Amino acid sequence: MGWWRQLRWRIIAAQMLVVLVGVVTLIATADALAARTVDPEFLPVFESAVIQALVVAALAAALVGLGASMVLAREILRPLRQLAASSQRIADGHYDERIAMPLSDELRDVAQSFNQMAEALAQVEQQRITLIGNVAHELRTPLAGLEGYLEGMLDGVLPGDPETISAMQHEVRRLRRLVDDLQHLSRVEAGQVTIQPQVFDIVALVERIAAQLRPQLIEQCLNIIVEAPDESVPAYADPDRTAQVLVNLVGNAIRYTPEDGCITLRVRSDATHVQVAVEDTGIGIPAEALPYLFERFYRVDPSRSRASGGSGIGLTIARHLARAMDGDITAFSAGIGKGSVFTLTLPCGARPTTSTR
Ligand code: ADP
Repeated sequence: MGWWRQLRWRIIAAQMLVVLVGVVTLIATADALAARTVDPEFLPVFESAVIQALVVAALAAALVGLGASMVLAREILRPLRQLAASSQRIADGHYDERIAMPLSDELRDVAQSFNQMAEALAQVEQQRITLIGNVAHELRTPLAGLEGYLEGMLDGVLPGDPETISAMQHEVRRLRRLVDDLQHLSRVEAGQVTIQPQVFDIVALVERIAAQLRPQLIEQCLNIIVEAPDESVPAYADPDRTAQVLVNLVGNAIRYTPEDGCITLRVRSDATHVQVAVEDTGIGIPAEALPYLFERFYRVDPSRSRASGGSGIGLTIARHLARAMDGDITAFSAGIGKGSVFTLTLPCGARPTTSTR
């Protein structure tokens, strides 16, 4: 690299240029003034005194300029070098790398942004590791089940009858559901799911879902009620995705509500939003679990949820879909045994927005 391209030498050159211009200007001005104002008899003496003074001043200015440039260059270059070295360390996988705060405000801002970026990268890396661990853990359970059945059959302990094969099929279905959910989750998180928002009547959609699920609910001795205004309530969202989210919420309500319970779908609206609350009289959720419900693989009671085929990512997908439609999902429960309420909020259809993905 040519020396003139280095910041250090450019700063020094700029300082020296200032000294040079100062000296030349002083000589020219002193010369012109002296010719007009100083007695010609004293001119040589005056000129020699001025030149001597200028040489001393130029040397002093050059020395101070050089020193100041060096200090300034070091103050700028040291954090920049540290930034480059730290970037390299992060690129090599050391996500705990942080840089010290420099003195100047501007470089401090850069260092702060860098440290924030490093922090975000560390979190993403941590989430990636956790995700792989969770996926492996989730796969292990049905695989261990299948392995057990196969070993039992090979050893002759278990008969190869339809019952055993049906139990194996159950494990395979669980695996398939997990893989499908994971694929869906990755597409939703990558923003690859198509959302086609339009104005539609949310009351009609809720009633259709309730009608579809009623036979299943009757079978499980559960009641389903729709509480909605008599007139239509326009929402602005993707109707298919909205149905997917609601089916998921009602599916959970069914799963976590014991016999003779009741599931209520309540539709409300205000000037800007419509809301569908899916309320059940089921097992409820402890307060300390509420903040984590929408995290991947989170289950309040892992063994119970896993036994019922839950992958623990249904709510994560549902919230992503709701947010992709400019809405959200919130959860509430008064506590264990006191039922739960999951509320889906969507933009009101009377306020056309234009978010397409
Ligand atoms: P899963 O497939 O395990 O049901 P979800 O992401 O849909 O996964 O739900 C996460 C967890 O939230 C569940 O394991 C369960 O513990 C809790 N949960 C969800 N819905 C309800 C509900 N209606 N009542 C009680 N607990 C619920």
